[in-house]
Amino acid sequence: KDFRNKVKPNWCPGCGDFSVQAAIQRAAGNIGLEPEELAVVSGIGCSGRISGYIHSYGFHGVHGRALPIAQGVKMANRDLTVIASGGDGDGFAIGMGHTIHAIRRNIDVTYIVMDNQIYGLTKGQTSPRSEMGFKTKSTPSGSVESALNVMEMALTAGATFVAQSFSSDLKGLVSLIEEGINHKGFSLINVFSPCVTFNKVNTYEWFKENLTKLDDIEEYDPSNRMLAMQTLMEHDGLVTGLIYQNKEQPSYQELIKGYDDKPLSKQDLKMEESKFNELMNEFM
Ligand code: SF4
Repeated sequence: KDFRNKVKPNWCPGCGDFSVQAAIQRAAGNIGLEPEELAVVSGIGCSGRISGYIHSYGFHGVHGRALPIAQGVKMANRDLTVIASGGDGDGFAIGMGHTIHAIRRNIDVTYIVMDNQIYGLTKGQTSPRSEMGFKTKSTPSGSVESALNVMEMALTAGATFVAQSFSSDLKGLVSLIEEGINHKGFSLINVFSPCVTFNKVNTYEWFKENLTKLDDIEEYDPSNRMLAMQTLMEHDGLVTGLIYQNKEQPSYQELIKGYDDKPLSKQDLKMEESKFNELMNEFM
């Protein structure tokens, strides 16, 4: 299926977000989804525009709130495949409270973060993913805060699917998004997506030199949570591939009684006039 629409992205040439857009479109097609079976919900930032660039249902939400909206969409209609997306500032600063709780809730949503370690839309400020010493307009003498290691954080919070990829590895990214969508529960995919305009440190070349593919680590086992944590610590979080997956834990939807029988979008919303008036009177 064709998930391309006629809207031309206005990202800077070379921005890593182009690959993420292409990967979502390919993964959705490979899985055999129809455009009307996919909803992409995004937050605010350069990456937040992605929901308008994919031929599917889309919702460009407010800053840091892609996940609450995405979870509401999924709860109202279990038949939709729901992808939430945004940047590292969106998801790991203002939206961090939602990220943590969506992780531990294990709701069946795939969250794709375009991690460029800077705020791009507002023209280059330090983000929660910027390394200590990183110089920007907001930290001209270098950041004195350590970067958040989101993959370790996700494991600690009880994530059942944790993966990381790189915009240059389109094939690997497509495959991880397919696995994330097929995972029953919450899947977090952090994508190193370089901001070529404002981040002159974490460039494509820098990632190529510093990333390690988990596929290249002998006997790596993504079902082993302790090994996942140990490997992340040994590589300072700079690994790509499927880091951890727990296929046994039931999703939030599976634990909600009656949810599967009658999702909200399939319920009859007709209401007795007297009941409607009673409800309205509460707001008078
Ligand atoms: Fe991409 Fe950075 Fe340009 Fe934003 S400012 S579109 S993140 S390259």
